[in-house]
Amino acid sequence: MSHLIDSYASITGPDVIEQLRQLAKPLQGLKVVHVNSTKLGGGVAEILNKMIPLMNDLGIETSWEVVQGNPEFYACTKMMHNAIQGNQVQIPEKLLKVYEKTNAENAEQLRDTLTAADIVFIHDPQPAALLKHIDDRQGKWIWRCHIDASKPYGPVWKYLRKDVQHYDASIFSLAGFAQALPNPIYLIPPSIDPLNDKNIELPEDERRAVYEAFNLDPDRPLVVQVSRFDRFKDPVGVIQSFKSAKRFIPGLQLVLAGGEASDDPEGDIVLEEVRTAAADEPDIHVLLLPGDAHRTINALQSAATIIIQKSLREGFGLTVTEGMWKQKPVIGGDTGGIRLQVINHHTGFLVNSPAGAALRIRYLLKNQDKMFEMGIKAKEFVRENFLITRHIREYLTLMHALVFDSKHRIELK
Ligand code: UDP
Repeated sequence: MSHLIDSYASITGPDVIEQLRQLAKPLQGLKVVHVNSTKLGGGVAEILNKMIPLMNDLGIETSWEVVQGNPEFYACTKMMHNAIQGNQVQIPEKLLKVYEKTNAENAEQLRDTLTAADIVFIHDPQPAALLKHIDDRQGKWIWRCHIDASKPYGPVWKYLRKDVQHYDASIFSLAGFAQALPNPIYLIPPSIDPLNDKNIELPEDERRAVYEAFNLDPDRPLVVQVSRFDRFKDPVGVIQSFKSAKRFIPGLQLVLAGGEASDDPEGDIVLEEVRTAAADEPDIHVLLLPGDAHRTINALQSAATIIIQKSLREGFGLTVTEGMWKQKPVIGGDTGGIRLQVINHHTGFLVNSPAGAALRIRYLLKNQDKMFEMGIKAKEFVRENFLITRHIREYLTLMHALVFDSKHRIELK
């Protein structure tokens, strides 16, 4: 019988797949549940979409639950998200009550599944308060923080920590994000799936079709940023960089492609800011795409001459890795996970301002050989470090540690 996981061997080599099988073997039949707050939009949903079937394929019974809430709940969790990433946000008491109540209600809905699970992964702050409602839990619970929690706003972190400290383990994407907690902390960066529609190599005609669809000129350089319309992604800063570079490279084009995430209530406001900033420049294309437009995003990233991700804060920008996998140099904000993803001067550049980004755009377009070389290195760097197979290996290793309490060694046959 052919297995989904085997299809990755052509990309990673067969040894990597064999190692996953060995790690999965002692975990056969375990019930694992992932909980987050949206099925569509954003990096967490992107990862879980494939993580779940692959874990099942490896014999680990894995399911995915999504907490449901009203707009006040998402307003609250967005404020938490912004505060954990460092903004000084006072969350009104009323919204915190909605947060608690929503978690209590969702715990009721999910009680049987969560109680019976051997391992529960709770992603980000939105469902973090579920734990205290499941008194008779059987399994180990892990809080998986995807955001940049390096300098959280104190009062909000203190609030969240009251729940997070009771987990059996926590995961951060990199060492700089980890906060002191009484539970064991694991460092696991996220990953991309090279075989999903977002990252496969598209047929030439499909790649070319985006030029026509979005009125782009294939003969002129194109800078692309794919991101939710979120101020931390600094889309207005990207527009400033673009305008400044365009004074020297008149043919330059920019695509800012984003979509809606159902758990992000600020998107419309930021989109309006972006449209206003772009209004006087016909070569800026602001695209609002449906949440499942994976092939279109793939085609845009593939069509790009340069990928930009000028975030001001970033847990780990999947879009950076997606661009690198398409052999593109990436100009990334010098922040958070992007520092781990972009090797400055080798696979792209880290920048701290719109002026810096503009300079790097100009440099790359003047040095095509360098750009090509960076693209090749970028793809290999992703192959080694940021594919879903590495991510699965680390989750399996973590499960071993928690289930068998094998803190110091993992025995492979
Ligand atoms: N994405 C998408 N449509 C959009 C914007 C983003 O499919 O309009 C995808 C993007 O390709 C990436 C993920 O959503 O896979 C965003 O993850 P990232 O870590 O870059 O940012 P997050 O939204 O999680 O902060």
